[in-house]
Formats: sequence, structure tokens, C-alpha cells
Amino acid sequence: MELTLNKAVTQVELSGIRQFTYLVRDTPGACALTIGEPDLNTPDSIKEAAKAALDDNDTHYPPGNGYPYLLEAVSRYEAEQHGLHYGPSEIIMTVGATEALAAALSTIMNPGDEVIIPTPAFGLYEALVQLREGVPVNLPTEHNHYQIAPEELRAAITPKTKAIILTSPNNPTGCIYTKENLDAIHDILKDKPIFVLCDDVYRSLVYSGEYHSFAEYQDMRDRIIVINSFSKPYAMTGWRLGWCMADGPIMDRIQVYHQYAVTSIPAFVQRACVKALETDVSDVVELFRKRRDYVYRRLVDMGLEVQEPEGAFYMFIDIRKYGMDSNTFCTKMLREGLVGVIPGIHFGTEGYMRLSYCYSDADLKEGLDRIEKFIKTL
Ligand code: PMP
Repeated sequence: MELTLNKAVTQVELSGIRQFTYLVRDTPGACALTIGEPDLNTPDSIKEAAKAALDDNDTHYPPGNGYPYLLEAVSRYEAEQHGLHYGPSEIIMTVGATEALAAALSTIMNPGDEVIIPTPAFGLYEALVQLREGVPVNLPTEHNHYQIAPEELRAAITPKTKAIILTSPNNPTGCIYTKENLDAIHDILKDKPIFVLCDDVYRSLVYSGEYHSFAEYQDMRDRIIVINSFSKPYAMTGWRLGWCMADGPIMDRIQVYHQYAVTSIPAFVQRACVKALETDVSDVVELFRKRRDYVYRRLVDMGLEVQEPEGAFYMFIDIRKYGMDSNTFCTKMLREGLVGVIPGIHFGTEGYMRLSYCYSDADLKEGLDRIEKFIKTL
């Protein structure tokens, strides 16, 4: 008897980021600068709201897309904070941005469809596209200050192109797309039957400059899907909560996937979501801005090339001058220098490493001292 499994599931590897993170964790004495989540705890007011909801027995099946009070709160928050106008019926509360991305791609993709992924990019996108028997089409941006070169985007589009995923601020670079770049992308896409997934999970963590999301181009509303998350700004990664917004007809279909995949997010967390949306995160932004400034200065002073990030909490560091692929470099630095960062290849870009600065000042100093010492040995 031969058991066969789904071909796509069999071929896709487990997350390289997670695997390397485990290697760092299991290396005795290693200082980790790997993790992609704030080193803070969820604010008490948010936790209290969930505890009160539990005590009120808010533990039954909630409506599939989310309680109406929460959908209204998200709708108001998006309008007031981001100038995006989506009604409660155009919003679904999801199991993190991860489910929102999975639901969006499941809704729009057929086997063989191509999805353009500007790289470096969060590894989840490639895997999700492959799991839907689609073809990820990488669009490198590292030679262009992590902006999309319009002529290269034009060249990447084929009759099979179904979507492009725009992440701003970006994981792993922390860079944001400029208004000029977004205008150029919009010019190319405005007349094409191509969806734009705006992964805006880091948009509340922007430290400098003017921020624009592609979601502002509402003339393309019928093709835009906005993805957001409670994970990063409110230190709620373990709650697994996010949301997805899209024009009515698409949302109508996204809810089909959502309903059969997860039914709904949990009931009692939804009051906590409202509290989170009311939470001022300016202290968090200030904390990460200080860390960014410190880490950036240290890296530049030790002669490493890195583009100063404008958001999120990562640095994507050029290591090409050391003549090793990123896995070899990062493994060697882990073993010999006892400091862990993630190889760039796990974001689709060779010759770089991603450092996370979601760590205390003392840990950052120690980790950077070790990187400095290690690169002097090369
Ligand atoms: N998008 C990006 C760009 C991310 O970096 C992450 C998490 N690292 C996610 C989506 C998934 O976030 P969530 O915890 O909301 O599923």
C-alpha cells in the first residue's frame, strides 16, 4: 500500500527562519538577534479586557467574520488612523496576518498563477504561493535601495500574473516604499487584472519619513487586499490576531475560505482587540527608534553596509565582501562568534543577513560586540 500526500505540501520546506532560530537557541552560550517579535509584553489593559470577557463567559461561537462591535472598531480605526475607508462588511478578523494572507491567496489563485514577490521578502509568501500550486516570481530590489524598479516590474508581468505582494515597512529590510515608487507601481498596475496584497503589519512602527500604503490607491479598490495584524505594535504575537480588508465582492469570497478553514477567531479575545486599537504605541515606536539608531551606528562604524531602516525592527546587512553564502557565514558566526542572526537566503536574497533589534540594550551591545569581534577574524 502506498500512501500519497499532496504534492505541494510534500515539496514545501518548513520555515528556514524558524529552523535557524532553533539552531541558535540550541547553541550553548549564543547571543540571539534573530527573533521577529517585540521583547515587550502585551499591555495590561488589553489582557484585562480578555480576562473580563472570559469571566463573562464570552466563550461561545462568535460570528464568523468577527463581532460587529469589533468590525466597526477596526473600520473606524482604519479611517481615522490610516485614511482607509472599509465598512464592517469589508473586514474579516483573522488568525494573525498569516491567515489573512493564506485566505487572500486561496481566494484569488488558481494552479499555475504567478505571484510577484519583491525580494528580500518574508518567507511565508513563497511557501503560501507554492502550497496553492502557484509560481512565486521574485523581483529583486537590493540593487535599487529596496524600491521596485518600474521597468523590472513591467518585465516581470506575464498573462499568468495574478498578484503582487507589497510589504511596507519590509521584513527583513525595514525599508518603506516611497510615494514616487508607489505612484510608478500604480501607473503600471492600474489597468491590469492583477491583485495587490498590501502587507501592512509594520505600518504602526515607522520611525522616519512619510509613510504611504498602496491601499491609498482606491481607484484600484476592486483589486486591493489589505492585511494587518495585532502582533507587532501591541506585542500580541502569541494571540494570533489580525485582519483583512477588501472590496465587498472579494471579501464575500474570502469569507468562504475563512469560514471553512477556521470558522472564526476566538470569542473572548475580541474585546481585547478593541482595547488594542485604542492603545497609544508612541512609546514603543520611540523605544525601537532609539535601538535602530544605536544598531545602525554600530554596524556602520564596524564597516558593514546596511541601509538605514525606516520602520519594523530589522536590519538587512550586506556580507558579500566576505565571499561566503549567507548560510555558511551565519553558521560560522554562530559557532565561532556565538551570535545568531538569520541568513538572507531565507528571505530570497543571498549575500545578506537579517539582524533583529527586538532585544534589550544590554543584549544588543553584547551581540554587536560579538559581531564586531567575529568579522575582525575574517
Ligand atoms: N507579514 C510579515 C511581513 C511578517 O513579518 C509577519 C510575521 N513575522 C507576518 C506577516 C505574520 O504576522 P502574524 O503574527 O500576524 O501572523
